[in-house]
Amino acid sequence: MNSINHHPDTAWLQAYAEGRLYGGKALLLAAHIEMCPVCRHQVAQHEQSLSEQCWHQPFAPQDQNASEALLATLLDNLPDTPLEAPVVEPQIELQLEHRRFVLPRVLARQMPQLGSWSRLPGGLHQAKLNAEGDGDRFFFIHMDANSSVPQHTHQGEEITLVLHGGFADERGEYKAGDFIHLDGRHNHQPHTDSDEDCLVISALDQPLHFTSGLARILNPLSQLFFR
Ligand SMILES: [Zn+2]
Repeated sequence: MNSINHHPDTAWLQAYAEGRLYGGKALLLAAHIEMCPVCRHQVAQHEQSLSEQCWHQPFAPQDQNASEALLATLLDNLPDTPLEAPVVEPQIELQLEHRRFVLPRVLARQMPQLGSWSRLPGGLHQAKLNAEGDGDRFFFIHMDANSSVPQHTHQGEEITLVLHGGFADERGEYKAGDFIHLDGRHNHQPHTDSDEDCLVISALDQPLHFTSGLARILNPLSQLFFR
C-alpha cells in the first residue's frame, strides 16, 4: 500500500483530540485518522498529555471530599452484570454501478444519508452526503481513469480526503488516505491517470468557481457541485 504524504495541520489534530473541531474538518479528519497511523499516534499522544495534565491538577481539599464522595457513589452504583461485548459494526461499502469501495467506519456510519449518484461531464460521478457538517456540504466524487475535473478555484475552503486510487493536480499527486486542504488562493485541475480511477470525499463551504476556457461556462452550473 502507498504511504500517506498529505496530513492535516498539527493544530487541527490537537483541536480534534480536545474535542474542539466541528463540521467537515472533524468528519474528514476522523476518517483520515482511521487510515493514517501517523496521525492516529499524534492524536493519541496529545490525548495522553491532556489526561496527564488533568491528573496533576492540584485538588483543593473541598474538591477532594467532593470527588471522594462522587467516587463512592459511582462504585456503589456499578452494575453487577458484566459489560456487554463491543458491537462489531458491519463493514459498509459504497456502491457505484458495478464498483464497490470499502469506507472508513466513520463514513460508513453515514451511508443512510447518501443521496443518489449523478453523472457529470468528463467521466465524473457525484453523490451528496447529507451529514451533519456545520454548514459544510459533503460530496463523494468518483473520477474514472483518464478523466479530469475542470480547472477551478474555491470561494471558500475545500477539504478532500482520497478514499481509493489517486489523482494529481498542478501541486502534486494524491493517493488513498491523503488529506488535502485548499482555499481561494488555490486554482487547480485534478486529473486521473489512464490506469487508475479515484474516489474522494470533499467538504465544501462554498460552490466551486471554474476558471479555465470552456469550463467557465460551467460556472452557472457550479451549483451542480454544491447541490
Ligand atoms: Zn495523517
